[in-house]
Amino acid sequence: MARNIGPNCRLCRREGIKLFLKAERCYSSKCSLVKRETVPGQLKLMRSKLTEYGLRLRAKQKLKRYYGLMEAQFRRFFEVASRQKAIPTGEKLVELLERRLDNVLYRLGFAGSRALARQLIVHGHIYVDGRKVYSPSYITKVGQEIKLTSAITKSSQIEEAIEILRSKNVPDWLEYLTDGVGGKVIGIPKRNMVELPINEQLVVEFYSR
Ligand code: SF4
Repeated sequence: MARNIGPNCRLCRREGIKLFLKAERCYSSKCSLVKRETVPGQLKLMRSKLTEYGLRLRAKQKLKRYYGLMEAQFRRFFEVASRQKAIPTGEKLVELLERRLDNVLYRLGFAGSRALARQLIVHGHIYVDGRKVYSPSYITKVGQEIKLTSAITKSSQIEEAIEILRSKNVPDWLEYLTDGVGGKVIGIPKRNMVELPINEQLVVEFYSR
């Protein structure tokens, strides 16, 4: 599985927004974007005005990096979204990205970042409807239950996360299981339910040029 192994904070500085790639650090004063708002190595670029193409390219890069995908994978998601006609392509793309198993674990709070969620999945710690799933890009469906293996729920990291979770709200389309060590998909993530500081329409325009 290809993945980005470069410095994560550099990506946030490049895009000028928080991409939340580093768990707790992203919510603290240690966040590099709080400390330094400059574009890495390209001070002049930051000050210059973006072209129409540049604007769309940056929106695509932001969305792709926000969900931690590589280009080929992101493109595949876009193609699936553009094949259905019922919902605008941008909205469908966001819906599919939200329904990815790594994102669901992140939204439920069992992992501090999507990268950590992917680790839990590929190491075999996640069950969907009682079956182990090893693919972070698995698209969850309404009614499915996501559970953690008993081995991982005993780890101090997850125990801490579960403690914090009890006081947190999850998105409207997800809910916690009563035992607190899993969650359930109870709806489809509509665009207005997703906090996303990116204009997905610009992404559609980028690929449709
Ligand atoms: Fe981005 Fe998180 Fe690094 Fe802040 S700490 S720059 S939000 S990855």
